[in-house]
Amino acid sequence: MSFINEKYFSTYEEVKAQEFDFIVIGAGVYGIAFMNKVLSLKPKSKILMIEKGTFFLPDHIQNLPKALIDLNQTAGTRPWESDGDIAFMPQIPFVGGRGNFWNGWIPMPYNLKELGWDDSFVKELQSEWQPAADFLGRRYNLVTAENSCEQLRDLTRKLLTEGMSKIDTGLMIEHPNQFDSSIATGRHSANRPFGKFSPVSVLMQAVADKKSVMVLTDCLVKKFQTSGGKVTAIETSLGSIDAKKAQIVLACNTLEATEIVLQSGSENPLVGKNLSGHIRSWLGIRVHKKYFQLDEVFQAGAFYVPGYDTKLDRYLHTHVSSVYNPFPERDIDLLYQILPDASMRESIATYMNPDYVVFELHTMGEFLGTPDMKSPNHISMKDGKMHVNVTFEKDDEATWDALDSTVFQIIEVLADGKPFEYQQADNSYAKKKPERIRNKGAVHESGTLWMGISDKDSVCNLDGRLHHLINVYGTGGMLFPRPGSWNPTYTGVAMAFNLARKLC
Ligand SMILES: Cc1cc2nc3c(=O)[nH]c(=O)nc-3n(C[C@H](O)[C@H](O)[C@H](O)COP(=O)(O)OP(=O)(O)OC[C@H]3O[C@@H](n4cnc5c(N)ncnc54)[C@H](O)[C@@H]3O)c2cc1C
Repeated sequence: MSFINEKYFSTYEEVKAQEFDFIVIGAGVYGIAFMNKVLSLKPKSKILMIEKGTFFLPDHIQNLPKALIDLNQTAGTRPWESDGDIAFMPQIPFVGGRGNFWNGWIPMPYNLKELGWDDSFVKELQSEWQPAADFLGRRYNLVTAENSCEQLRDLTRKLLTEGMSKIDTGLMIEHPNQFDSSIATGRHSANRPFGKFSPVSVLMQAVADKKSVMVLTDCLVKKFQTSGGKVTAIETSLGSIDAKKAQIVLACNTLEATEIVLQSGSENPLVGKNLSGHIRSWLGIRVHKKYFQLDEVFQAGAFYVPGYDTKLDRYLHTHVSSVYNPFPERDIDLLYQILPDASMRESIATYMNPDYVVFELHTMGEFLGTPDMKSPNHISMKDGKMHVNVTFEKDDEATWDALDSTVFQIIEVLADGKPFEYQQADNSYAKKKPERIRNKGAVHESGTLWMGISDKDSVCNLDGRLHHLINVYGTGGMLFPRPGSWNPTYTGVAMAFNLARKLC
């Protein structure tokens, strides 16, 4: 056990003897958001956070020295078998979870009702959006003292506004400012005005303030013991924890939570069906700086282009980063700190030529399971191991074609007739159009404990409680009836706040 674990967190022996109001499984973004809201509503609530991993990073990786950058690709693990057409990206098994590395895009979801979300639940969320935005430190630009970026930002916005009608999947925008992406710039990040949001400092602050929170790390939750439709104890790698009067919150992400429910012997055969997520296409271009009138200063902006394929009835969107980096060696740390999709060595290398403006595009869209027993995508258990089955249907394949063509159409809009080069598979640039721009990993897994009114066609009720267990609640993506294309974390935090309000 590390010094931090010892100093700030509790041992199994200390925890075992206690009685809690809430037991939260997973100390990632949603678990910590839930804890934070409960403490603000009922400060004396006793909360146990159970986390599989240990303390890892005190802050988001991009708020820390760049020397740590390679952790992003080595810290993950997949404690499941991936069967079928695509594998999900790994979990990050440490305090803070995926929030140690996430990119911080926090778009507002839209058309939830059309996606099958219950109307009354959508209305309930209305009062959570602003608090969730405040918690994540939402901003609509990457402006800092060193990145005034106005010229390149105005230009990118103008190109997107004028070119939207040329993008087959483009959704109409009411005002050009709507292209400016909302980013979680971390109000809690070491008190900096600009950083990347990480949930770790929120948790550490609660412990440091001697709030009634206990954190048990290095503790894997395996399954529940149940009796009379209620969880009576939680079986963990350290031993059993008596649930007593606690409400239990599954905040360990979609696949992991579903495994716990399946291992516990659920009577609802729908558990694990409806597995959905996002597939992605990714490509950059560069245009020589002589075609722009830009001041010789670092300029970087982040944009969000919403999309919908009407024929397929599938949502998609594109993140666009535009960067001019005339002094790459000098400004490399600045680039690393502020760009949303720059948390890997290769991503940074993309922006290191001072003679070019780079536009990096990242398009993602839905692939879908079905909310019934026939779902082609689902989670199952075989020989005690979780299997994640993803089989692409015709419309999933067609959606990926639509993502690819959206990327190339937005590129034409941004290049606006100027000569440009495409980013190649090895991250060099050339005139040749790359044959394949698809990313191998699926992200934002969702839906396997989806919420609805009846246990005949859903797994959780509209409070997020499992229909078949009266003291267990889900959070975030696992509850989404259908994901849409928007990045899920903003919605998940709003839902965690909503759950806290209901349970307090
Ligand atoms: C590189 C990257 C970039 C991303 N970018 C974005 C983005 O720009 N925008 C966006 O909205 N989303 C993004 N995401 C997704 C985002 O990080 C997740 O939506 C969010 O972190 C989900 O929060 P969570 O609390 O459900 O899960 P997590 O953050 O994964 O936390 C779950 C925690 O539970 C623990 N745990 C798991 N199983 C168990 C168990 N059995 N027992 C005990 N503990 C357990 C894990 O160790 C982990 O700490 C990104 C993710 C990654 C990896």
